[in-house]
Amino acid sequence: MIEKVTNSAQAIELEDKYGAHNYLPLPVVIAKGEGAYVWDVEGKKYYDFLSAYSAVNQGHCHPKIIDALIDQAKTCTLTSRAFYNDQLGVYEKYITEYFGYDKILPMNTGAEAVETALKLCRKWAYKVKEVPENQAKIIVCESNFHGRTITVVSMSNDPDSYSGFGPFTPGFIKIPYNDLEALAQALEDPNVAGFLVEPIQGEAGVFVPDEGYLKKASEMCKAKNVLFIADEVQTGVARTGKLLCCEHEGVRPDILVLGKALSGGVFPVSAALADDEIMLTIQPGEHGSTFGGNPIAARVAIAALEVVKEENLAEKAEYLGKIFREEMTKFQEENEMVTVVRGKGMLNAVIIKPTNGKEAWDVCMRMKELGVLAKPTHGDIIRFAPPLIITEEEMRAAIELIKEAIRTV
Ligand code: PLP
Repeated sequence: MIEKVTNSAQAIELEDKYGAHNYLPLPVVIAKGEGAYVWDVEGKKYYDFLSAYSAVNQGHCHPKIIDALIDQAKTCTLTSRAFYNDQLGVYEKYITEYFGYDKILPMNTGAEAVETALKLCRKWAYKVKEVPENQAKIIVCESNFHGRTITVVSMSNDPDSYSGFGPFTPGFIKIPYNDLEALAQALEDPNVAGFLVEPIQGEAGVFVPDEGYLKKASEMCKAKNVLFIADEVQTGVARTGKLLCCEHEGVRPDILVLGKALSGGVFPVSAALADDEIMLTIQPGEHGSTFGGNPIAARVAIAALEVVKEENLAEKAEYLGKIFREEMTKFQEENEMVTVVRGKGMLNAVIIKPTNGKEAWDVCMRMKELGVLAKPTHGDIIRFAPPLIITEEEMRAAIELIKEAIRTV
């Protein structure tokens, strides 16, 4: 018999006993979501200030996206790419026009889309740039987070991500983030094919690089015939106050990597976008995925991207994010636990100085009691990233609860 969950303790016990222990969640069991809110099994209501790591930018269970999901789920769910389907081409046209690229290669998760970008970059290196076989290198940044596959963790310098998972994929040059000199040096190697970068390092704790970094880095790459690859899985789709975070500096990546909010958190949908010179280096049979480009994903992603435009989510993120940083910066003067407030648009973080034995985790537990959900990333940093459909009134109410939690932890 399938067990029915009737209380939070039971759900936690089930996950603990039968699931791998590869996460350490806050002890809250979410049973329902709508807009900026989630409810636990006992019916307590919370502001969701994580948005599934920025996947739910459009808000939980957005009716337009859910309608697209249900309608397509009743019609045709999966054909595999062995055949054409009637939704994929429509989506491909829509998304390439939306972001301004010749072509898309659809995948499911962020990590897969990053892998796709790496493969595209290497193929391009051999076929177009004429790097000698198996010599192509890709520059990556320290403290990056691009996902969890073996190749992706091969690019990581976070021991939690890579320890015990070797041997690793070769061909990466790691340089410090936000360091143009290091980039210039690394670009001297003629076998460098690409530079993979997050426009803001989200998982690392919302590290915003210096103004001009992305612009200069992209120009330096262009000068050396090296592809500028932006991982906008977390920063993309309006989160930082523009449709893409790279737009803040007028940068157009050679390969754009998207995931998460591409489906509004409704379905695993990710993508690599590029122009023909890059995309057409991959031939039939050389890359793909059973679920990549399935009709549900296509319908859901169109609806999710339409919502972003119809509801002006980028502009909202810019406006509300400023309020958040202003309020928390003012609060910083009042409370010594808050040492740093940073971010862009609605991707923000606060650094919590451990005080009287209380640290960021305790602050998150207190916020949970008061009805706001967020989680520390890397110990003392709390990321605040609510759904972008949150109203100003709700945002201001939640900010007061966050302050109250820090005061009373
Ligand atoms: N790239 C970035 C910048 C991310 O933040 C993440 C996930 O947090 C990923 C890639 C991996 O995405 P996924 O977990 O869907 O594989």
